[in-house]
Amino acid sequence: MTDFHRSHPYRLVQLLLLTLLTMGGLSILWEFKLEAWSMHWLGLPYDGNFENGERWRFVVTSIGFSLLSLILPTVLLKRLVNNTRSSYRRMQREQSKTETLARYDSLSGLINRRVFMEMLRTGLKQAEPMVIMLIDLDRFKAINDKYGHCAGDSVLIEVASRLSKIAFEHSGIAARLGGDEFCLLLMDYREEAALRNIAESIIASLSRPVLETLEPSSLGATIGISRSWVDAVDASALLHYADTAMYRGKNSGRSTYYFHDIEYERQRRAQFDLDFALKQAIEREEIVPFFQPIVALPSQAVVGFEILARWVKPDGGTGMPSDFIPVLERLGLIPAMTRSLVRQACLATKEWDAHLHLSLNVSAAMITDELFPDRLLEQLRQEQFPFDRFEVEITEEALVGNLEAAQRNLSRLHAHGITVALDDFGIGYSGLYHLTRLSIDKIKIDRSFFEAGNVDHLPMVEAILGMARSLKMKVTAEGIEQVHLPHLPSWLASNGCHFAQGYLYGRPQTGFDTALNLQGQPRLKRVVAFE
Ligand code: C2E
Ligand code: CA
Ligand code: CA
Repeated sequence: MTDFHRSHPYRLVQLLLLTLLTMGGLSILWEFKLEAWSMHWLGLPYDGNFENGERWRFVVTSIGFSLLSLILPTVLLKRLVNNTRSSYRRMQREQSKTETLARYDSLSGLINRRVFMEMLRTGLKQAEPMVIMLIDLDRFKAINDKYGHCAGDSVLIEVASRLSKIAFEHSGIAARLGGDEFCLLLMDYREEAALRNIAESIIASLSRPVLETLEPSSLGATIGISRSWVDAVDASALLHYADTAMYRGKNSGRSTYYFHDIEYERQRRAQFDLDFALKQAIEREEIVPFFQPIVALPSQAVVGFEILARWVKPDGGTGMPSDFIPVLERLGLIPAMTRSLVRQACLATKEWDAHLHLSLNVSAAMITDELFPDRLLEQLRQEQFPFDRFEVEITEEALVGNLEAAQRNLSRLHAHGITVALDDFGIGYSGLYHLTRLSIDKIKIDRSFFEAGNVDHLPMVEAILGMARSLKMKVTAEGIEQVHLPHLPSWLASNGCHFAQGYLYGRPQTGFDTALNLQGQPRLKRVVAFE
C-alpha cells in the first residue's frame, strides 16, 4: 500500500471532524449569541424567547446538513480520483510492459534483434572490437513439425538458457534474432583459437539432449563468425558476413562453424553470377547448337552431324560445354537446354540435304527420366524431323545409375526408329553387359585412342572393332584429328569402322557456317547411308 492509500481515509475523517467542530461552534455561537446581537444591531425585531431545546435542534440540523452536503460530493470526488488514479497506474504498467517487449524477446527473455543491433552499432561507433557468432539451430523445424509448437517453444527457452550461460562465462551477450536464430555478441578482442573454442562449446552444448521427449542429438547448431577487426566495421555488413559464413556451414553438413572468408565469398558470388547468367542464357536461347560433321568410311562423305552445345555470351565470347554443362546439371536445366537445342537444330537443318542425320548428346538424368522419350518424340514430330534421321548419344556412366529405366526409354526410342550410340566407348565401364542388354546400335570409340597420332592404342581399337562386328554394331571413331597418321582413315575403314569424326573433317561450327560449307563443298554433299 502506498502512502496515498493509507492517508486518504484518514484525511477524510479529519475533514469531517473539522466540519463538525466548525459548524457546531458557528451554529452554537449564532444561535446563543450572534443572532440576537445582529438583529439588534440591524434594528430588526427579535423575539429571543426560545426554548433551549429549539436552539439545540437548530445547532444539530445545521451540523447535520453541513455534514451531508460535504459527505456526498466527497464520496463522489473520491471515486473519481480513485478511477483516474487506477487508470493512470494501468497505463504506466502497460507502458513498462511495452518497453520490456520492445527490448526483450518475450519467449526466451534474451535481448531482441533491435537491441542487439543498437549495442553492435554503439560498440562499433566507439571502435570497440566486436565479434558476432550467429547461431542457427539445426533440425529445429523438424522438432516443431513432429512434436508441436509447445515443444518447439520449450526447446527455444532451453537453448536461450544454455546460450546465456555461455555468454556469461565469456562476458558476452546472448540475443535471439528471431525464429531459431540466436547470436552471441562478444565485445572484446579474441584470438582465433579462443573463438574456435567458444564456437565448439556452443555446438557441444546445443547438441546435448534438450527435452526428455525428444530423441537425443536431434538438435544441433551451425555458427557463422564475423569479427569487426577483420571483416567490417559496419553493423549490417558484419551481421551479413556472419550470416553468409553460417550458410556455408549449413551447406557443408551442419553442426559446424565458419569464419567469414572473403575469398570464399568471392567464389560464391562468382558462382551465383554464373548461375544467374546461365538461367538467362537458357531463357534467351544463348546456348546454341554447333554442328560437327560425321563422315562415312571409306568415302569420307558427310552423313550427319553431332549437335554440340555452345554458349554465345552477350559479350561475344563462346562458352564451352565443360564450363556450363556441370552448372546446368546442378541447376536441373539440362532438359531445358536440350529442348532448346533440338528446336534450334531442327530449324537450322531444315534446308540442308534431306538425308543428313543429327546426333544429340543426352545426359544421365534425362535418359532415365520416364517422360523423356515421349517428349523427344513429340518435339521431333512438331519440328517435322524424321525419327529415322535422329540419334541419341549416351555414356555408360548414364546407364549405371538406373539401368532398367534407361533400358525402357531406349527401347521406346528405338521402336520409333531413333538410333542409339554409346559415347566415349573404351574409357568408362565398357561392360559388355550394357552392350548386349540395351538397344544400342552404335559405339563411338573415345578420341583418347587416337590422340596425337599415337599408334599404341591401335590394337585396342582393332579389338573393339572386332567385338562390334560380332555384336553387329556400327562404330564411329572419334577425334580423328591430324595427318600424323595419314593412313588412319583407310586403316579404320579396312578394319570395319563405319564412321569417323574429328577436326580432320571439320570442327564444330554454327548452323550458318555449316550450311555455307555444305553449299560450297560438293564432296560434303554426297551422302551415304548412316546406319
Ligand atoms: P562428346 O560428346 O564426346 O563430344 C565430342 C567432343 O570432342 C566435343 O567437345 C568436340 O568438340 C570434341 N572433338 C571433336 N573432334 C575432335 C578432335 O578431332 N580433337 C579434339 N581434341 N576434340 C574433338 P565439346 O564440344 O567441348 O563437348 C564436350 C562434351 O560436352 C561432349 O563430349 C559432351 O559430353 C558434352 N556435350 C556437348 N554438348 C552437349 C549437349 O548438348 N548435351 C549434353 N548433355 N552434353 C553435351
Ligand atoms: Ca557425343
Ligand atoms: Ca565422345
